[in-house]
Amino acid sequence: MKDILLDRQQLQDIAKRLGKEISETLKGEAKVPLFVGVMKGSLNFMMDLIDNVDIPMYTDYIQIASYVGSKSSGTVKLLKDVSYDCEGRSVVLVEDIIDTGTSMKFLIEHFKLHRPKKVYVCALFDKKNARVVDVPIDFVGHVLERNDFLIGYGLDYNELQRNLPYVYKATPKDVAELDEILAKDKAN
Ligand code: IMP
Ligand code: MG
Repeated sequence: MKDILLDRQQLQDIAKRLGKEISETLKGEAKVPLFVGVMKGSLNFMMDLIDNVDIPMYTDYIQIASYVGSKSSGTVKLLKDVSYDCEGRSVVLVEDIIDTGTSMKFLIEHFKLHRPKKVYVCALFDKKNARVVDVPIDFVGHVLERNDFLIGYGLDYNELQRNLPYVYKATPKDVAELDEILAKDKAN
């Protein structure tokens, strides 16, 4: 039995609440706000979030890499930049989880190059006790008191299980089972 933290309904409720909050905050902007999903972890959440945004909006995606297995590598690499013109418009960065804060700090710094009007941060999860660098979060789905490793709904363990419609807390047994799948994949 998996230790489920949030099921599909709870995740959709969060997306609904945040979609409304963001729409309320950004309504009436002169330039259409751009929502930027941080690949790949935020994709599932991004789809549910934008379903609940009821103001004009654009979407784009950016891809970075920082995690290896269940540990933050501490270094962030930009794999794909946004292709939209962000100048003078509000940008909402949509992340799955803020852990040490390193990735989000990198993204906020990076976006300065694009000269947006303002950058907002929306994160499904905030592992608040894991922070190494301080980052502002404007819209938070769920705050975590403990630094559990979460899997599902975009969150992966070495790319596995992003497809789950719920989020669970990984136990050593869960990780061992996933390692077995990875080892088998590699051997074949
Ligand atoms: P940070 O740079 O340490 O804040 O890490 C942020 C990134 O690491 C997130 O965007 C996730 O992709 C990944 N990450 C952090 N914690 C978890 C987790 O519990 N499960 C899966 N991925 C995670
Ligand atoms: Mg991520």
